[in-house]
Amino acid sequence: MGLSEGFLRKARKRGSDFLGHLKYPPHVKRVKVAPDDIETFQDFLNDQIPIQSGRNFRRQPFSTSHLYKLYSEGHPDDLTEATFRKLLKKENVHHDDKPDFCGYCNGDYKDKRKGSGKNLEDHIRAKNAQMGYYKLMKAGLKTDNSYILIVQDFTQLNYDTKDIQDLVICVYYHDPDHESKIGLDKYHHIGAFPNTMSFVRTVWDKFIAHAIESYHPEEVLIFSDGCGRHFKISENMEMWRSFAINFNIKFNYYFFASNHGHSVCDAVAANSKRAIKLYKQEHKTVITEVETIDEIINIESNSVSMLITNLSDANIDEFEAMTGITKCHVFEFHHDGSLHAYQDAYSFETFVEY
Ligand SMILES: [Zn+2]
Repeated sequence: MGLSEGFLRKARKRGSDFLGHLKYPPHVKRVKVAPDDIETFQDFLNDQIPIQSGRNFRRQPFSTSHLYKLYSEGHPDDLTEATFRKLLKKENVHHDDKPDFCGYCNGDYKDKRKGSGKNLEDHIRAKNAQMGYYKLMKAGLKTDNSYILIVQDFTQLNYDTKDIQDLVICVYYHDPDHESKIGLDKYHHIGAFPNTMSFVRTVWDKFIAHAIESYHPEEVLIFSDGCGRHFKISENMEMWRSFAINFNIKFNYYFFASNHGHSVCDAVAANSKRAIKLYKQEHKTVITEVETIDEIINIESNSVSMLITNLSDANIDEFEAMTGITKCHVFEFHHDGSLHAYQDAYSFETFVEY
């Protein structure tokens, strides 16, 4: 048989079965799991990934091997990784980016306004467009240093006396020195305040100058969920409009479709939560000061933690409520103060001009 050298090289790369030495995967014994171990496993899940209300699945914020590592640290020799993975499946634990876990997409919310007909079509269109665009623009950072991509989200951190909010801002940028050519810096802003627009405003009034001076972008892309409490509201839009004018830069704000947000902030927050837990275990102590949380987060690589001690009282000048913004997922802020809103990243006609 005259197989070319090139084919053989490729075949060797892809595995020996192309060369005719068919190999079966190693035989794995079926493991029966002791009931006690299942209970421990379920406790572990409830602790690490509580089920959010109204959902019948758990969102897994980090990789399965990371989760298994966490588990086996506390329970050595209980379960093999293979069994652990099987149990995860059984317990309905999924990664974020699987689209069919959305109540609108999988039909669970059929009777609700958003879960049927034209609304559902719009939702699916927005979901595909927004996530596709996010991935495209993130990949673009491998070669393009003209823009930065920011993902932000609130997460709640608990310590022994209080619940505090952490506004996590992840900045992706072109980094020629990084193996993937994409760098990621993580900024935590923690404070004992509710997750309102005042919190957002306090952080961004400071952070915006840092972002522009540190990364020198010609354009800034921001992604977040469309929470109407602090992100997708007219006051926030006015804040970005003022940044575009003051910094003479174009800002594009992209909202993920409901239930299809990206998990990077969750994953970053999960690391912090784990670090806090480890700190408590190692020091055999309770944490009573928010400053301790601040210090713990600052130790993590590429992480900066800022303590919010009081909220800015800078009020935005009088602004008009922007009707119809809930339907839009893309907002372009131009330096002349104009604001164009679109239904999604691929609908090119202006939906509304504010
Ligand atoms: Zn959906």
